[in-house]
Amino acid sequence: MLEATGLMVFYENMLALNNVSLSCGENQIVGVFGANSAGKSTLMYTLSGIMEDIKKKEEMSGGERITVVGKIHYQGEDISGMKPSQRARKGIILCPERRRIFRESNVIENLRIGAYLATPAQAKETMAYVFRLFPALVRLKKRVGGFLSGGEQQMLAIGRALMAQPRLLLMDEPLLGLSPLMQAILIRATREIRAEKKISIIVTEQYARPVLPIVDYAFILENGAAVLEGDRKELLNNQDVKAAYFGM
Ligand code: ATP
Repeated sequence: MLEATGLMVFYENMLALNNVSLSCGENQIVGVFGANSAGKSTLMYTLSGIMEDIKKKEEMSGGERITVVGKIHYQGEDISGMKPSQRARKGIILCPERRRIFRESNVIENLRIGAYLATPAQAKETMAYVFRLFPALVRLKKRVGGFLSGGEQQMLAIGRALMAQPRLLLMDEPLLGLSPLMQAILIRATREIRAEKKISIIVTEQYARPVLPIVDYAFILENGAAVLEGDRKELLNNQDVKAAYFGM
């Protein structure tokens, strides 16, 4: 479904992604684990194409020079350099780090904003699905985003991403700062999204442990480089990985 090869991203002379190659197959969940500053968000911006926008904005404002190298193929097509809006239309949707919901808009409005790529029928069907997936949001329909808890905001962020009709959902640190109970709810929902909607998912996290049970394959990022990869079992059997990323 998606295959990235030799991705390098420089912020001026600082190398944030160093020759990263990764792939995500149809209906797979792929994990990308790494500490703060390992390059997880840079990777997600690069895959979703948002890096192209950031790059342009920096160029126009005379800011830092951002260089992106490498190839991204999606459904057999070379999408490297393609605008994020075009990638979104092809089904690559980012659910960004730190939720980024519209704080002044209520839950329903946030979901409607997400539906910009959906037909009215898809929007209606997906909205019903989001409330089935996250029943906690039902009684909060009219509440503005800024007054939701962190976990509720994350549910809304995932819901909003689903409204855009993803075929490949990129989730950047969805569990960040949330309680173990909320993390379990979100992990269960992620598994359900894959099973019911047949959506492929790439998910980044600092800690692998809560996510590991649902991933088919995972990569470990260190200082911008993919230092290790393997399926769930291979990673669990690796002593270094266990100690560093799984807290075991
Ligand atoms: P976190 O968990 O803190 O979000 P991350 O793994 O997502 O970390 P990135 O945000 O991708 O990491 O950052 C990778 C490296 O690139 C870091 O050293 C960061 O300071 C640097 N970086 C990120 N954005 C920029 C930028 N716009 N300009 C310069 N350096 C940047």
